[in-house]
Amino acid sequence: MNNVHAIGSGKKICGKKTRAGTPCQKPPIAGATVCRLHGGAAPQVKRAAKLRLLELVDPAIATLARIMATSDNEALRLKAAQDILDRGGLPKGAQVTVDDARTALIEKLIAYRDNQEN
Ligand SMILES: [Zn+2]
Repeated sequence: MNNVHAIGSGKKICGKKTRAGTPCQKPPIAGATVCRLHGGAAPQVKRAAKLRLLELVDPAIATLARIMATSDNEALRLKAAQDILDRGGLPKGAQVTVDDARTALIEKLIAYRDNQEN
């Protein structure tokens, strides 16, 4: 595996061997473990990275929905609602309520379910 972290910083690095023999310090492309120079520009790597990121969308929305529905913290519920609406195409800074976000989430879940059935 190639999932190297820069020591002490917690920042992910590519870690592939450079011509100088040292680990590559460049950040990996999003969703992958390698930088552009070490395979991250290859179409199959970009495609796989994009798929990995897409697979995280539903669990992320589910987590936000859980926070929105169950948190005792009003500010946290509102932030989760705004995050869901931001992903739904509403501009940042638009006034939203928890009910708006709940409605948007329900519409998204219905659309998702309809897509799964087809
Ligand atoms: Zn690299």
